[in-house]
Amino acid sequence: MKVLVINTGSSSLKYQLIDMTNEAVLAKGLCDRIGIEKSFLKHAKNGGDAVVLEKDMANHKVAIQEVINALTDKETGVINSMSEISAVGHRVVHGGEKFTDSVIIDDEVMKALRECIELAPLHNPPNIVGIEACQQIMPNTPMVAVFDTAFHQTMPKHAFLYALPYDMYENYGVRKYGFHGTSHKYVAQRAAAMLGKPIEQLKMISCHLGNGASVCAIDGGKSIETSMGFTPLAGLAMGTRSGTLDPAVIKFLMEKKSMTIKEIDDYLNKKSGVLGISGVSSDFRDLHTAADEGNERAALAIEVFCYRVKKYIGEYAAVLGGLDAVIFTAGIGENNDIVRKKALSNMEFMGIKIDWEKNAVKGREIDISTPDAKVRTLVIPTNEELAIAREALKLVK
Ligand code: ADP
Repeated sequence: MKVLVINTGSSSLKYQLIDMTNEAVLAKGLCDRIGIEKSFLKHAKNGGDAVVLEKDMANHKVAIQEVINALTDKETGVINSMSEISAVGHRVVHGGEKFTDSVIIDDEVMKALRECIELAPLHNPPNIVGIEACQQIMPNTPMVAVFDTAFHQTMPKHAFLYALPYDMYENYGVRKYGFHGTSHKYVAQRAAAMLGKPIEQLKMISCHLGNGASVCAIDGGKSIETSMGFTPLAGLAMGTRSGTLDPAVIKFLMEKKSMTIKEIDDYLNKKSGVLGISGVSSDFRDLHTAADEGNERAALAIEVFCYRVKKYIGEYAAVLGGLDAVIFTAGIGENNDIVRKKALSNMEFMGIKIDWEKNAVKGREIDISTPDAKVRTLVIPTNEELAIAREALKLVK
């Protein structure tokens, strides 16, 4: 069985075709600048080098058609016809409170997805367009929606509720939803396998540290708390996002800098985080280079980031009432030993004890704790595409 995984952004579309018999990636790629001039498709098959093809892609439907063409083409292709694709798994950012798990997409689901647009105005519309485009081109292939929010629907009410007048929750759905659920769930399952224990018996903290970053407390395989909130702006300091701040800062910015709400939204989402503090870059590789050359603000941005990761680990250990494992994943979590070192130093009092030589590892599964550590600290590369494909397969089988 082959599953196509689709992750649609406002002007981009990432895809992977996975053979589920051995979970091998047959092809993967990206359509970029959809609806903008100079759009192109980047496509690689069987782990080979990517080819870049300039293609006019006025909308997502054209982009999906180009993906199908690339997958079935004599040269770039890996399948003979689309009928070989058994299911399409779509990454959907926001499922609100309606979706606690992945679902096969039907008219009812599409209606519910449209109702969630209000909660994720930037993310859900392109996801919906991507699904509709696939439905038109592959009307007989089952489509599955896999939500970033679904894993966190097990959070108890006292964890997800904001201290606002209650009608904000009842009437408008203003609450913590959490994101990166597919990744947190995937690495938690991998962690249980690495530790050789049933997930039901484990208390874990998963740190997904990429451009977007979030921490999740996982008790017995279920999310009970996470750092992102109503939107993916909350929690950790991120590449360009501020993370949590005193809400009164908004009023101050409006008054002092005469900023509009739209400008503030942009400021907090795109100009803040480690980019904002450093004035250098949102990318940690650039920050380390600058810090090594003596740039103090770049060094400070790294400190702020790591300090918050450490704080969440402490906070979530308290929430879990115990801790068996801490997981580091995503671009920074998997590859950046300096960030891991800063976040994990001086935590022996709570059972976290790191073998600093093992910590030097990049991008592969490893237990970096010392043999006598009470808490296992694991580096686990995430694989959201594979997780989505597995969900899709589970539902269509
Ligand atoms: P996104 O949220 O966009 O998927 P990623 O998970 O790719 O983000 O994380 C991006 C961050 O990870 C960047 O700050 C980058 O410096 C870091 N990163 C990614 N790959 C590597 C690597 N091989 N070595 C060191 N840092 C990396």
